Amino acid sequence: MIKRQIVIVGGGFSGTALAIQLLRQNNDQVAITLIEPRDDLGEGVAYSTQDPAHRINVPAARMQLSEHEQGDFDRWYRQQPAFSADPASLCQDGAVYPQRRQFAKYLRAQLRHALQGSSVSFQHIHDYARDYRDGYLYTERGAHYPVDQLVLAISHPAPVIPSVFEGVSADANVVTDPWQPHALTSIDKDACIAIIGTGLTMSDVVASLRRQGHRGRIHAISRRGQLPRSNLSGPSYPEYRLSPLSPSPRTVREWLKYVRQNVVIAAQQQLPWQVVVDDVRRQGQAIWQQFDLAEQRRFLRHLRPWWDVHRYRIAPQVARVLADCLASSQLQIHAARLRAVYRVADQFALTLDLRRGGTKKLLVDNIVLTTGPAHQQLIASQPLLTSLQAQQLITPDPLGLGIAVNAQSQAITPAGEVNTRLFVVGPAARGRFGELMGLPQVADHAQSVAMQLVNRSYQPISERCPHDVQ
Ligand SMILES: Cc1cc2nc3c(=O)[nH]c(=O)nc-3n(C[C@H](O)[C@H](O)[C@H](O)COP(=O)(O)OP(=O)(O)OC[C@H]3O[C@@H](n4cnc5c(N)ncnc54)[C@H](O)[C@@H]3O)c2cc1C
Repeated sequence: MIKRQIVIVGGGFSGTALAIQLLRQNNDQVAITLIEPRDDLGEGVAYSTQDPAHRINVPAARMQLSEHEQGDFDRWYRQQPAFSADPASLCQDGAVYPQRRQFAKYLRAQLRHALQGSSVSFQHIHDYARDYRDGYLYTERGAHYPVDQLVLAISHPAPVIPSVFEGVSADANVVTDPWQPHALTSIDKDACIAIIGTGLTMSDVVASLRRQGHRGRIHAISRRGQLPRSNLSGPSYPEYRLSPLSPSPRTVREWLKYVRQNVVIAAQQQLPWQVVVDDVRRQGQAIWQQFDLAEQRRFLRHLRPWWDVHRYRIAPQVARVLADCLASSQLQIHAARLRAVYRVADQFALTLDLRRGGTKKLLVDNIVLTTGPAHQQLIASQPLLTSLQAQQLITPDPLGLGIAVNAQSQAITPAGEVNTRLFVVGPAARGRFGELMGLPQVADHAQSVAMQLVNRSYQPISERCPHDVQ
């Protein structure tokens, strides 16, 4: 029997979750080829870190492969030797925040399990996809694979070096990609460090430095100087549902007002703001898709920085490290724009334009860039995607968040046509779907794409989001 060849490019969380869902479908007319250069599947940028200071940023009970498996990672983790070896993963409220690599291990256990019960053929090719032409995918090692349906599961390109660093980026004391293994280990414990960015990656870097016994001063710099907020770690709270409102809010401004009102209502019930944001997040895809492009742009321009720090929270363990460093003044946060960076003898001089006015000079020994993945540069970041764009098979989404797709997560061409053989899975499709970065939304998306790949009558992802979110 000739099998339908499904080729998945990228074996991070999205590609691996998709493969697991396809295997579970057990459609023996399908053959899966997963191209991923890393030895281990399920890692990608987020879960490949071996640093024990890097923890998942939501409780394990919220990370699963589908909504029917609620709590499965949590149950799995508590049975692993890693749990007893890492008592710090357990919080006062009973929630666990394992080290991130544990989630990749869990995914691989799920993949093994899916393989055992499936008659679908599956191969992991340890290679890098470079090109796609006339129904074949070509790899760096010179192999080629026939493709009936191609799935792009590539989300996080390496960070782009801001132009202000052009003169110093090759310097050994400038870390341009802190996700590289051992990127921080050569930094002297007493060095004064400037971290560019104050988000999740900065939190990872500070946690790593503290684990290494860093004693020197750390300056973290970003335009607004906003830190990611902490997840709750005290008593557990009931799930909060946004209070009904008729008619439901339509614009970004109306939503902001409505969410603020709900924070007040929740506070009257002795509930923290986090439970309100959690419900907004649950409805995130529906809310996003009811906005037109102008409203989506408005959100990105005005609200996104605030949404990000409240929505992408950090594990209580990491929040404690940041709080300790701030309390001891080892860590200082600067709300500022970086105007200039240059070498002064064996140090770097940084000129900051402070948000509140005035300038400030800093002298530091090392610089670490934590500006995060360059999602706007996703297509330009690698040959496969640039080739697909040159062949008019894919195009960036109009918001610059990733790749343009339709409601089935099929790629849209620059001419606006749908490419029914080319799918995008994971955060690269979030311009269309909205909230599609953390789990469980990415897991749900992978499951939906799997269903569409094997079963064309499956209801499109977006149609599963009710138009009226109330
Ligand atoms: C640092 C970090 C921490 C996070 N922590 C959490 C968390 O704790 N909880 C949570 O809910 N969410 C978290 N997230 C978000 C979430 O889990 C990610 O959105 C998810 O991991 C997306 O993975 P991905 O597989 O789509 O992309 P990626 O992680 O980017 O993986 C893509 C994979 O594709 C491979 N690849 C790229 N190009 C090619 C090519 N041409 N050929 C072959 N292979 C290729 C790469 O090697 C890589 O393995 C985190 C995200 C990041 C970046």
